[in-house]
Amino acid sequence: MFTIREYAMPETLDEAYTILKSRKGNQILGGCAWLRLGKKRINIAVDLTKCGLDYIREDDEQIEIGAMTSYRSVETCDILKKYFNGVIADSVSSIIGTQFRNTVTVGGSVYGRFGFSDFLTPLLALDTSVVLYKRGSVSLETFMTMPYEKEIIEKIVIKKDGRKSSYQMFRNSRGDFPILNLAASRTEAGQWIVTVGARGPKAIRAEKTAAFLSDKLSQNALKAEDVEAVIQEAGEILVSEVTFTSNMRASAEYRRILGKVLLGKAVREVMAC
Ligand SMILES: Cc1cc2nc3c(=O)[nH]c(=O)nc-3n(C[C@H](O)[C@H](O)[C@H](O)COP(=O)(O)OP(=O)(O)OC[C@H]3O[C@@H](n4cnc5c(N)ncnc54)[C@H](O)[C@@H]3O)c2cc1C
Repeated sequence: MFTIREYAMPETLDEAYTILKSRKGNQILGGCAWLRLGKKRINIAVDLTKCGLDYIREDDEQIEIGAMTSYRSVETCDILKKYFNGVIADSVSSIIGTQFRNTVTVGGSVYGRFGFSDFLTPLLALDTSVVLYKRGSVSLETFMTMPYEKEIIEKIVIKKDGRKSSYQMFRNSRGDFPILNLAASRTEAGQWIVTVGARGPKAIRAEKTAAFLSDKLSQNALKAEDVEAVIQEAGEILVSEVTFTSNMRASAEYRRILGKVLLGKAVREVMAC
């Protein structure tokens, strides 16, 4: 269990940022589900509850999700169910249980960049940015590769660009971590994006697989057997370009087999939209 020496509940992000930076060992609190598993000794714990970051809203161009929004709000949000075939809301619905999802936050999950994340894989297949308090907006893809700096995630922003998406995952049992997850999106211009997570390292985009799908599935009147042949070949490209590792939940070889299956399911689902 972690320990906290001092607790602060600022009312503005400016105040929160000043406290965060004022001393080494100060740290932002999200829902604390992950933090409490560790043994960190936090100097000043900065609780963002009063900073107005619990919201999901949309305008004509984008959807914004505040950092203190819980997974349960994501899961049940009507706005999120309307776009991208509801993948964002769906992606978190299998994580542990309702009480847990009421606690964990979008900010903590994005900051963590956990390899097993159900949330990040579909977001990476969309046009998603992470808005940091000082640095401003960076694409999620860039954020995934950035070092763990002391910053405040204010919100994530998803462009409403008409993509069709599918999120697929496989778990050994309900409530366990996914042993592989995969998302596929197709833009209105017919461009595919494929992302793979829970493979060991962090989620990544499978660029060659996506380029292959964009090229081969661009013709309008493909027969069903032709689509299946493309999916088979795309599966081979996927497992050659993405690294899968072994751990206590699954071997790399099993993940490779699953990767092909999940890709096929995702592509068929997007094409059926
Ligand atoms: C037992 C267990 C099982 C899990 N299973 C799954 C699973 O199957 N699938 C899945 O996708 N996820 C899973 N998770 C991860 C979970 O969904 C959350 O992503 C995780 O708990 C982090 O969210 P939190 O709100 O608890 O963050 P916290 O624990 O509060 O914080 C995590 C980190 O983020 C930092 N932080 C928090 N908010 C911000 C912010 N706004 N700006 C900057 N830094 C911030 C904190 O300082 C800390 O370093 C699991 C977690 C646990 C504990």
